[in-house]
Amino acid sequence: MHINNNYLNLKDSYLFATVANKVAAYKEANPDKKIIRLDIGDVTLPLCQAVVDAMKAASDEMGKKETFRGYAPYQGYDFIQNAVAGYYKNRQVDLDLTEIFVSDGAKSDIGNILDIFSADNQVLIPDPVYPVYVDTNIMAGRRTSYLDAKEENGFLPVPGPDTKGDIIYICSPNNPTGAVYNKIQLKAWVDFAVKNNAVILFDAAYEAFIDDAELPKSIYEIEGAKQCAIEFGSLSKTAGFTGTRCGYTIVPHELVSEGVSLNSLWLRRQSTKFNGSPYIIQRGAEAVFSPEGQRQTKENIAYYKENARLISQALDKMGIWYTGGQHSPYIWFKCPNNLGSWEFFDLLLDKAQLTGTPGEGFGANGKGFFRLTGFGSKEDVQEAVKRLAGIMSMM
Ligand code: PLP
Repeated sequence: MHINNNYLNLKDSYLFATVANKVAAYKEANPDKKIIRLDIGDVTLPLCQAVVDAMKAASDEMGKKETFRGYAPYQGYDFIQNAVAGYYKNRQVDLDLTEIFVSDGAKSDIGNILDIFSADNQVLIPDPVYPVYVDTNIMAGRRTSYLDAKEENGFLPVPGPDTKGDIIYICSPNNPTGAVYNKIQLKAWVDFAVKNNAVILFDAAYEAFIDDAELPKSIYEIEGAKQCAIEFGSLSKTAGFTGTRCGYTIVPHELVSEGVSLNSLWLRRQSTKFNGSPYIIQRGAEAVFSPEGQRQTKENIAYYKENARLISQALDKMGIWYTGGQHSPYIWFKCPNNLGSWEFFDLLLDKAQLTGTPGEGFGANGKGFFRLTGFGSKEDVQEAVKRLAGIMSMM
C-alpha cells in the first residue's frame, strides 16, 4: 500500500486554529473584556420561515407511506431544478434542466469537479482566494500557478499576453477580497478561455450579495461563457444553508472538449460517486427561490450588507483603501503602517479586543492585508468600528 504522497505537499492550515488559540488565550488572561469577532466566515442569522415551513412539510411527507421518497434523482428533483432555472431566467440566462446538478454544497462540487479533468492540465488560481482551490489541486497532484491579485489591479486580475492556463478559477464576488468582476473583465476571461480551449470554474457562492444590475451574478451573463465555463452556486451564504447543505453546479451542454461533453462526464461522475441531496433539504432549497423565500432571504443578506457598509464607511472616514464592503460580506484592507497581517491581528486583539482574519491565510499576496466580515450582529459592528477608529487614530 502506498499513500497519496500529494497530501504531504499540502501546507498545514494554521490560520483558523491560530486565530482560535490566540482568542482563547486572550480571553483566559482578560475574562472581563468583551472581544468582538469580525473574523466570522459563517452566517449567524437563522433559516427563514419559508424554508423552515417547507422542510417541516417535507419531513411529514417522509413519515407517510404514500409520500415517502427513497433515493433522489442524481441531478436533483425537477422542482428544485425548475426553481434554479427560473432564478437564472430572471437574469436572461436560459438553462436546460439537464444542465443543473443539485448537490450538498459548492465546496464538495468544487473539489469533485477535478475528477473529470486530466491530471496534466495547467491550473491557474487567483492569489489570494478561497484556499479550497489550491488544496484540492495539490491533493490531485496538479501543476498550479497563480494569478496575481493585487492592489494595483484592484484584486481583479485579467488575462495578459503571457497568461497560460487550461483550468482557470474565478471567484466573484471574491472571498476574501470582496472584489467583484464587471462584465468587461469577465468577457476578457471568457474570450481567453474560448481561444485557448481552457475551462473557467466560476464560483458564484456570493452572487446574492450583488445588487447592481450592471455587475454579473452569473458568468453565463457573458456571451460565449456556455462554451467554456462551469458555474458553482451555493445556498450557504444566500440563505443560511451552511449547516443545512445545498448547492448546484451548472455544466452547459455547449461545453465540449475533444468531442466529449463535460456535462455527460459530470453526470457519469455524480451518478457513480454521489447519491443525491436529501428530499427534505431540496424542498427547503426550493422555498428559497419562491417569492416569499426570496423576500425573506434578501432581508438577511441586507442585514449582513448593512454591517459591511458600516465597516467600509468607517474605513472611508479613516482614509483606508479597501476592496469589498458593497456587493459582498467581506472587507479587505491593507494593514496600517506596513504591519504584517499577524502583527496587526495581535495589535487589534490586544488594544481593541477586535478580531479579523490575517490575509496571508488566503495566499502569498494576502501578506500585509486583513479581512473583516459583516456576518456578526449590528450592535457588535457599531461598537467594533468605534474601537477600530480609536486604534487607527493612534497609529
Ligand atoms: N466558495 C467560496 C468562495 C466560499 O467562501 C465558500 C464558503 O465559505 C464556499 C464556496 C463553500 O460553499 P458551500 O457551503 O456551499 O460548500
